[in-house]
Amino acid sequence: MSDIRAQFALLKQTADPAVVDTMQHVVENGEDHELNRINVLDFSKQAGLDEERVISGFLHAARNGLFDLTWNVLCPGCGGVLGAHGTLKSLRPDDYHCGLCACGYEASVDEQVEVAFTVNPRVRRIAAHDPNTLPVWDYYKQIFWSSGVDFDKESFATLADEVTLETLELPAGEKAVLALQLPREFVIVFEPVTHSAQFIDVQGEPTKERQQLALVYNKTPTPTGGTRIMRPGPLRLALENQADLRVLPSVFVANDAMHRLIGKRKPFLTAKRMLSNQTFRDVFKADNLNVDQRLKITSLTFLFTDLKGSTALYERVGDLAAFDLVRAHFHALLDIIASEKGAVVKTIGDAVMATFVRPEHAIVAGLRMRAAMDELNLQRGTDDLIVKIGIHEGPCLAVMLNERQDYFGQTVNIASRVQSLSTSQEIHITGPVLEVPEVAAILEREAITPIQKHAALRGIADRMVVYEIP
Ligand SMILES: [Zn+2]
Repeated sequence: MSDIRAQFALLKQTADPAVVDTMQHVVENGEDHELNRINVLDFSKQAGLDEERVISGFLHAARNGLFDLTWNVLCPGCGGVLGAHGTLKSLRPDDYHCGLCACGYEASVDEQVEVAFTVNPRVRRIAAHDPNTLPVWDYYKQIFWSSGVDFDKESFATLADEVTLETLELPAGEKAVLALQLPREFVIVFEPVTHSAQFIDVQGEPTKERQQLALVYNKTPTPTGGTRIMRPGPLRLALENQADLRVLPSVFVANDAMHRLIGKRKPFLTAKRMLSNQTFRDVFKADNLNVDQRLKITSLTFLFTDLKGSTALYERVGDLAAFDLVRAHFHALLDIIASEKGAVVKTIGDAVMATFVRPEHAIVAGLRMRAAMDELNLQRGTDDLIVKIGIHEGPCLAVMLNERQDYFGQTVNIASRVQSLSTSQEIHITGPVLEVPEVAAILEREAITPIQKHAALRGIADRMVVYEIP
């Protein structure tokens, strides 16, 4: 343990000490499940710590080998984990299928891929490190459902009592028979290890005659066995496990209680937010996407900046002074981007391309950048630093370009063109940005009235509505 203590002490050099202390306390005193798939947003809320510092702290801890980071693809329907990946590189471009909901989903990284942290086995061995030895309900809670489904002790007891007719642990290679009374409801025989499901629509007159159903679990999961129609009454359910690990067949009644229970969500750290996190970009450079990987993001906000008249600036003040000024300007911009939950994708000359998870963060960053330039100019008694800013929001692809995680698509092109409409310190934004209620509220608070304009965006549109933030 002293070795581990030393590692936490080391971690304090890069991560917030208060975050590290809380993390260490849970590692030394927490229950096993508290160290499995930690929802860092929940963690920060419980501990009363700043979210960004907690995210950054866990990323550094993962880099140092104290925690393992996983990218979990979630079912939008039930919150079940359809795939858990150690790296973003393993995210599949094709469909993920949820047996429980009988639906296929293409993994968009927006809200559907969760980033969670599990303690490394070398630091502390927990039950979830051996998922196939977990009791059935622990398996559901810790492995099948993500950290984003808001279960508590009470709601989980309801799930186990009111929603479940039967559960069974069936070791590899074994057979079992369950005798059940089918209620007049929609019943699902679900198996969380292989993600396979059989639906039974129980309807019609009750019967005393015993009905039969046989299910076989294989190594290759067969996601759904379709829907069988049966009558209320006795069922002989024969189960056979041909998969090479134990399975946990469970008979659920798909009633309101079930939908209510698995429908309760809490916020979690999304892959999108992770990609737009400065610490992630800095610390996990190599652990990004594959060259041929493209991840769909349905909404991301882009902010472009460019320093006005930098060539003239070099001539006016000389290379040395200009270099210091440009550096001070970059320093201020990068600071603001990171503190507004954004990340720098790249700098091109004196220009910056940054991403934000939400438009309101970008607008606040834009306004702060403007104020920071005023401040720098005031200190020098000149007006040398004027930064031209443009903001746009929309869908894009996360890709690798020139060994850097970058973004691709028309949204990026428009954002860049919108920036080029600015000739001085006015900020140009687009309709999708202005229409966000939080953005409107910020502008109102700052007593700023946006000016609507029609602009031609080179290579994109002859006429597009944009808004100037004077
Ligand atoms: Zn599902």
